Amino acid sequence: MKPQDKIQSDYDVVIVGGGIVGLSLACELAATDFSVAVVERNELKAVADEPECRVSAINRFALQRFKQAGVWDSPLVRRACVFDKMFVWDQTGAGQIQFDSVELGVPELGVIIENYVLQHILLETVRSADNISYLCPEEISTIDYQPNVGGQSVSTVLLSSGMQLSASLLVGADGANSKVREVASIQREQQSYQQQGLVCNVATAEGHQNTAWQCFMPTGPLAFLPLYNGYSSIVWTLDEDLAQAYMALDDEAFKRVLAEESEYKLGEITDVSQRFLFPLAHGHATDYVRAGLALVGDAAHSIHPLAGQGANLGIADAATLADVICTAKKAGRQWSALHTLSKYQRQRKGANRVMEMSMTGFKELFGQDNALLSELRNAGLSLVDHLPAIKYRIIKQALGA
Ligand SMILES: Cc1cc2nc3c(=O)[nH]c(=O)nc-3n(C[C@H](O)[C@H](O)[C@H](O)COP(=O)(O)OP(=O)(O)OC[C@H]3O[C@@H](n4cnc5c(N)ncnc54)[C@H](O)[C@@H]3O)c2cc1C
Repeated sequence: MKPQDKIQSDYDVVIVGGGIVGLSLACELAATDFSVAVVERNELKAVADEPECRVSAINRFALQRFKQAGVWDSPLVRRACVFDKMFVWDQTGAGQIQFDSVELGVPELGVIIENYVLQHILLETVRSADNISYLCPEEISTIDYQPNVGGQSVSTVLLSSGMQLSASLLVGADGANSKVREVASIQREQQSYQQQGLVCNVATAEGHQNTAWQCFMPTGPLAFLPLYNGYSSIVWTLDEDLAQAYMALDDEAFKRVLAEESEYKLGEITDVSQRFLFPLAHGHATDYVRAGLALVGDAAHSIHPLAGQGANLGIADAATLADVICTAKKAGRQWSALHTLSKYQRQRKGANRVMEMSMTGFKELFGQDNALLSELRNAGLSLVDHLPAIKYRIIKQALGA
């Protein structure tokens, strides 16, 4: 069936945004009896040989959901790098903690994958599903959101091409500046960290050893995430001026600073790609749902990238929302009504809020250049490393359990 044969004007679910989270939701709804449209404004670029800098650490929960939905059978999965260890240390002292999949009795802690490659993988499932139309490139021109028409909510979405769609459930998976959130008049508390995330890919003399490395330093955390080609993707949180100063360095000088600041844990830096900056902010929508409308992923919440959990939380939102509406539909209940969608909000909002607050707390705790705090932090890290019960609880949360 050609993609255009699947295009219709009335859908059960219209998902605005075909990022990782919007496509994850579509995959969850593939092969159900919901008719689904995904509207995405940007076409994905073709998969290139060299790895991209924007990557995500995908946890075990998300991987399990992808495997259940048949998403993880794609040949592109070769671009995912399994990591089975995590090593965290504090640059200001001797504190360190290690997590090992063998110790935890799991085959891996997660995978690192380029964001756009993951989107390609998800898109394969979306394109092959008979019940999903993928409309791209298409921009939302207007949304007429009617919360309750004759007992059922209906939204009408006008696209840039002139096409008009109606939806019983409109899902905002359209990122931090969500238009869907705006038309539903849902407020978002947003705060900038006044910091930037510097990202690039580097080769290191000692290789990555399938380990996710995280160094806490007073200027902000620095992560080395292992890539499929032996390189590591770095995410370095920096105050604005320092970020600009590091961007201005030539490659040789940057390699020296990076090796020095990471205390040569992976040896010398032998190669570096182009560098990019991303402004860092955290925010949370006051509500995730209205009658006939739901927000998922960054449209609902965004957090500090220090523990690599943003996309994972969004994938968990998508899984929960799909479970809630599928269960209600099977039981013959009003699956897009506010009381049904509120179950999704109850299951996800608290968990996302806890993660957001933990990340902000971590950032504050490790961002203090204070000798006493530094001693406490270092003692705490090493102590937790020797307390298997607490260590296990921390890692279970990171794995998405
Ligand atoms: C430096 C950095 C590192 C990170 N590292 C990690 C990590 O290791 N692990 C992790 O889990 N998370 C990580 N994150 C967070 C993660 O990248 C985001 O949480 C995640 O990508 C959000 O996905 P999303 O699909 O909700 O939103 P987005 O990625 O913002 O996607 C929204 C989509 O909607 C489309 N769209 C928007 N408006 C419209 C419209 N009007 N019409 C049509 N389409 C529209 C956009 O084109 C886009 O494709 C990191 C973030 C940063 C900044």
